Amino acid sequence: MSWLIKGALIVPLAGEKPWFTGDIAVIDDKIAAIGDDLTPAYNDLKKIPAQGFIAMPGLINAHTHIVMNLLRGCGDDMPLEDWLSKRIFPLENRLTADTARAGAMSGVLEMLASGVTAFCDSYFFMDEVAKAALQSGMRANLSRGLTDSGGGGAERLREGVALVKNWDGQGGGRIKVWLSPHAPYTCGDSYLREIEAEAAELGVGLNIHVAETRREVDDSLAAYGKTPVERLNDLSLFDRVPTLAAHCVWLSPADQAILRQKGVAVVHNPQSNLKLGSGIGPIPALLAAGVPVALGTDGAASNNNLDLWEEIRAAALIHKGAGQDPTLMPAAAVLRVACPAGAAAIGFPECGTLEVGKKADILLVDIDRPNMRPLLDPLSQLVYSAGALNVDTVLIDGRLVLRRQEFLTLDQERILAEAQAAAEKLFGGDTWVAV
Ligand SMILES: [Zn+2]
Repeated sequence: MSWLIKGALIVPLAGEKPWFTGDIAVIDDKIAAIGDDLTPAYNDLKKIPAQGFIAMPGLINAHTHIVMNLLRGCGDDMPLEDWLSKRIFPLENRLTADTARAGAMSGVLEMLASGVTAFCDSYFFMDEVAKAALQSGMRANLSRGLTDSGGGGAERLREGVALVKNWDGQGGGRIKVWLSPHAPYTCGDSYLREIEAEAAELGVGLNIHVAETRREVDDSLAAYGKTPVERLNDLSLFDRVPTLAAHCVWLSPADQAILRQKGVAVVHNPQSNLKLGSGIGPIPALLAAGVPVALGTDGAASNNNLDLWEEIRAAALIHKGAGQDPTLMPAAAVLRVACPAGAAAIGFPECGTLEVGKKADILLVDIDRPNMRPLLDPLSQLVYSAGALNVDTVLIDGRLVLRRQEFLTLDQERILAEAQAAAEKLFGGDTWVAV
């Protein structure tokens, strides 16, 4: 389908002008033209009137686990290690393909409503996540989470490789599949080497949690005499394929230098790190050093929503407070992290900006709302004032998937009912509350 978006306040996140008023012509899946008045040249396209809306690139959620939507609110106010071992892992053991499907559908519904057009997800039951992404129309980088502590590593890696073979490139390239060693502390050295070799063979990237808590770093130093980043670097994990490292809250200066030299992309998950008391990562320093940084929500069990607008605002605020420096993380830099840098980090460099030739992943954000007027600086407004409820229209790959806040690819009522039923089934046993 092709469209002429008319009279929008365009925030392209590329080029010289931070914003301007104009039209965007979309032909098939790409942006064909951007200009003052494109009606004469593209009069045959179906028009989307956009006066009173900001047109901007879709948001990128570069780290999440959407099936965990079923676990929303199941274990708040607990330390990470207890949260995982006493709440999350026992509940995850009870998941089935049917319940996972309900969680995945509720995840894509929630992200689409808030203007996320691409997400990066590692978990299990990933066939269900792939089906949900495909049905929603979203773009996704998916991987089967891999661990070998406690055995079963080889079988999980076989599932991870099968996911690549079955799903990579599906949906006209909207689905991308990588491999995901869960974390340095859940994978042994030989397993990490094996996964990296498989990724290099398949020509796919790696997605891993790294240095999320201080305890993870202390345990790594005690067991290996190395930080998690040093250990992964020594195992050659950063050499042959792109690596996405989630969290990176606790990094030494040497760790930061390794990430910069090896071009490892870091995913900042400010609200999850705050909620789990993990800390605040050195994101301004990483950005200043030229490390690619993306933004993520993490799973709904540690956030507890998948609203990237909240992460944008948190990323812009927490470093100012922690560093006692209001010049850190300015609005334009945070939007670049949330859109083009996020897109490139999860393997979709053809998305993330509004430029001719780029994929047509476009949001229309309603500015005639109480929290959006008066409007003087659109970049400031998007970072410090806007929220998910301002997202009116979403196009992905040139396809209209949300229009006037109505879902065009998903049945909201049914998805919410099925998620509620699946969560009640999951929690229906008697042991999960016993902490
Ligand atoms: Zn995670």
